[in-house]
Amino acid sequence: MRGATPVFHRSCMTTYYKDGKPSPTKQTSPLCKPQEKDCEKWRLNLMEPRIRPSASSPDRASAFDRRPAWRPSVAIRISLWLHATLLAALPLFPNSWIWLLAVLLGNHLLLAFSGLWPKSSLLGPNLVRLPRPAAHNGLLALTFDDGPDPETTPAILYLLDSYGAKASFFCIGKRAEEHSELVRDIVRRGHSVENHSLRHPNLFACYSLGALQREIQGAQSVLAACSGTPPRFFRSPMGFRNPFLDPALSRIGLRYVSWTRRGFDAACQKPETVLRRLIRNLSEGDILLLHDGNSACTSDGKPVSVQVLSSLLPILHARGLRAVSLPMAMGG
Ligand SMILES: [Zn+2]
Repeated sequence: MRGATPVFHRSCMTTYYKDGKPSPTKQTSPLCKPQEKDCEKWRLNLMEPRIRPSASSPDRASAFDRRPAWRPSVAIRISLWLHATLLAALPLFPNSWIWLLAVLLGNHLLLAFSGLWPKSSLLGPNLVRLPRPAAHNGLLALTFDDGPDPETTPAILYLLDSYGAKASFFCIGKRAEEHSELVRDIVRRGHSVENHSLRHPNLFACYSLGALQREIQGAQSVLAACSGTPPRFFRSPMGFRNPFLDPALSRIGLRYVSWTRRGFDAACQKPETVLRRLIRNLSEGDILLLHDGNSACTSDGKPVSVQVLSSLLPILHARGLRAVSLPMAMGG
């Protein structure tokens, strides 16, 4: 028997009881596909006010937060096997050392190329699009890199509020330290703060395992202290990686995220060009990348990303796409 007061959610036309179960007389919204069995979970996460537990709360250890233990990807396993085989073959074929070395170099070139290809999954798991249940509900993730920035971030937050949109901000640890009030404002407005390294080093993809861990953990500590919640996702500077990144992220408990499409707003000074790149073949489930830090400026000195966002949000609304943060989209 249900003793709790039912709550009606106008946005999905469904009545929920406090035990989280929908009313037997539920009406189905066009956004909630009846064939999607997981729909209830996603909808509950999106419609209920989000109260994020503190880092010390035992509730933090939800299934969402637990990243599986590190397992080398297929490409890494093949590479390890190749190294062992070539080492064993060297004493047997000493005169062929040049060929063995060439195979080894070819292997390293392939791994290096994978690290320079942001959407590659050869070096480890890489979230390029949202999971299918989120896409079925018309969700799309907006992400902003390289902030917080005292000029651009407040303008972006204002635009997001105006359209009821949510986003994830991949912040640089050192910048978050300088503008901690902006980080708190991001979280207070319902967005998420994620990890984009401590100092955003250009040679990040050349770091050793220990150096990667120090860089990422340093940012993790700063961002958790500023926002009150440890980030759950990581994106590397410029999207470049190396084979040590996945084990480093696994130890810290972070998931790697790249993007479905980006507009190069950090380099392009024309908002219309950036917007065109973002909305070409745009669909639900996409992860979009813009910048609140390091955004290029238009000829009249305005941040390109702010100009793009002011045109992008009405387009998303008109197409029935709902912009959310990554934790909202992932059901965390
Ligand atoms: Zn960046």
